[in-house]
Amino acid sequence: RSSNNIVELQQVEKRYQGVNALQQLNLEVRQGEVLGLFGHNGAGKTTTIKLILGLISATAGEVRVFGEDPTQPEARHLRRKLGFLQENVSFYDQLSGLEVLQYFARLKGVPEKHCPALLEQVGLAQAGMRRVKTYSKGMRQRLGLAQALLGEPKLLLLDEPTVGLDPIATQDFYHRIEELKQRGCTVILCSHVLPGVEKYIDRAMILGQGHLLAEGSIHDLRQQADLPAVFHLQG
Ligand code: ATP
Repeated sequence: RSSNNIVELQQVEKRYQGVNALQQLNLEVRQGEVLGLFGHNGAGKTTTIKLILGLISATAGEVRVFGEDPTQPEARHLRRKLGFLQENVSFYDQLSGLEVLQYFARLKGVPEKHCPALLEQVGLAQAGMRRVKTYSKGMRQRLGLAQALLGEPKLLLLDEPTVGLDPIATQDFYHRIEELKQRGCTVILCSHVLPGVEKYIDRAMILGQGHLLAEGSIHDLRQQADLPAVFHLQG
């Protein structure tokens, strides 16, 4: 693998009984970038994330994460290098934010003493002792981000992390992602909308029905007359 690539997918196909979710997909994620993965619902974004996390196997082609096949038992140590957050995470509402984070720290084998600093990093230092049921959606997603950051992952996979958040909570969330990027974290951000996230994206890939439709900087993609409609979606 090229030393700058954290993730490489080569000619990947994924079929679920009869459904071609991904076809001949080539994808690389470079060290330190925020890669935006765009496409309508069903385009194959979540399938791509699952392949990188090693939760499913490709039907054909190669998936390499930090140079290894993430589905192999020997690649278990990769889990500590990957952080994952999806949309609308739900936690144990009766626990405090700190207790939730401590619980996940135990699951991940990360010392609990790191939890208060992580809460602070996502702006929940004050709210850490409050029960999660009193949290707004934005606060819940930031708690989800703290969970994803346990163990200082090198690669953060965010699957529609701000769906349902108001514009202020959304911008707050992405400012934190920008800070992480500045600290050297690599990020894959899936979204079916562009507005609101574009300024945080270094490079974009647009998927449609399991195919790569276009790739490049947002600026370059905007110049293309035949851009898929997904790129113009408001939201
Ligand atoms: P969404 O935003 O709705 O999650 P997506 O771009 O993430 O969309 P995928 O979830 O990767 O898309 O789905 C790609 C295709 O594969 C869709 O047609 C979907 O219905 C199908 N698919 C996904 N998971 C399964 C599964 N477990 N079994 C069968 N088909 C599936």
